Amino acid sequence: MRVLVQKYGGTSVANLECMNKVREKVLISLDKGYKVIVVLSAMSGETNRLIDLARQWSHRPDPCEMDVLLATGEQTSVSLFAMLLKDCGVKARSLLGFQVPIQTDKSFGKARILDIDNERIEEILEKYDVLVVAGFQGCDCSQRITTLGRGGSDTSAVALAAAINAETCEIYTDVDGVYTTDPNICPQARKIKKIAYDEMLEMASMGAKVLQIRSVEFAKKYNVPIHVRSTFSDGPGTLVVQEDKSMEAAMVSGVAYDKDQARITLVGVYDEPGVAAKIFEPISRANIVVDMIVQNPSREGKTDMTFTVPKGNVEDTLNILKKAQADIGAQAILHDVDVAKVTVIGVGMRNHSGVAAIAFSALKNENINIMIISTSEIKISCLIEEKYTELAIRTLHEAFGLDQEAPRKEC
Ligand code: ADP
Ligand code: ASP
Ligand code: MG
Repeated sequence: MRVLVQKYGGTSVANLECMNKVREKVLISLDKGYKVIVVLSAMSGETNRLIDLARQWSHRPDPCEMDVLLATGEQTSVSLFAMLLKDCGVKARSLLGFQVPIQTDKSFGKARILDIDNERIEEILEKYDVLVVAGFQGCDCSQRITTLGRGGSDTSAVALAAAINAETCEIYTDVDGVYTTDPNICPQARKIKKIAYDEMLEMASMGAKVLQIRSVEFAKKYNVPIHVRSTFSDGPGTLVVQEDKSMEAAMVSGVAYDKDQARITLVGVYDEPGVAAKIFEPISRANIVVDMIVQNPSREGKTDMTFTVPKGNVEDTLNILKKAQADIGAQAILHDVDVAKVTVIGVGMRNHSGVAAIAFSALKNENINIMIISTSEIKISCLIEEKYTELAIRTLHEAFGLDQEAPRKEC
């Protein structure tokens, strides 16, 4: 049995016309002799609508009930799409996360997939040619519905592909591949034919929402090739695969941005052992992800500590810090939500020097101030004022020559 996993995002299932396009793609794969597991997102805008609805009902929506609510978005798409397939005689059925089952931990709103019952899927696949699986959702060990975080349908698809050893996992979306930067922001962005898992991981974790980060982690761990392509055109997209020699030729292969960042500064905390732990342990216990961290040099036993958290976690973080304020000696707690992070990424950075200098001088030429810098082996991130995000992306994109055909060899 040859099985393909195809995931279609929100814009691909936005209405009947779009779903008919999806049906055409699925029918072509059936004609080629595949059985298909179709993973669907909620119709475009639906998840946001449900989140707004919950906020009207409750100032702090209960996380478990929030997941029950959000899962209805994907439930709607899979039922409607299964109807379309059945109407043209395809042996198809819909499956919700708990019916597969896609077993997750209990982190409501950002659950992690623990297990997928591949034998059961294979059993169901004996009877049907297409399984239409609701993305983004699973269930915990007490049969409570969980969701996998924004963009989580990508992860559902890759995890299913890994579980059943599918040949490839196709991610269909509204762009025809992974670009050197968001093509909706930078018209000069170029499509990348092949990208390494590690580069894609950095791109995704630095904000390129074309793939959810966990989907790339899964793909790398289980060696699932991902093919990102367009629902609305044919032709090849981008392959996300193991790194090979040809990929190191380019110094930088992409620029990503993340506007979901807020900066928090603790002014004048004690510079002594244990203070950082007192700050970050309770934040971590609250499941808040801290990203960039800088500590200034000490002055008379006091220092400033600056870090970033997602914008939606600012209120909770400030409450936690206020409780610890006296103990850590902070004179003031400041915050700023008008910030964004821009990142240049490339596995080639391992072998090229001077990347940071090029990035910093490009930003300087546009008079963009850098508030925080963080680096890894294959990326450099700068926190800047949010209003300069688009300008910074275009400037960095040009500075690294990403608008021109890359020197990297395709193989
Ligand atoms: P879907 O609803 O299909 O899951 P998403 O909106 O989650 O689609 O992801 C696709 C979007 O990702 C594109 O429309 C594009 O604006 C954005 N994007 C950001 N960075 C990139 C990039 N480097 N390459 C391609 N798309 C990107
Ligand atoms: N519907 C969810 C979201 O909008 C999951 C997804 O689309 O992947 O984030
Ligand atoms: Mg998405």
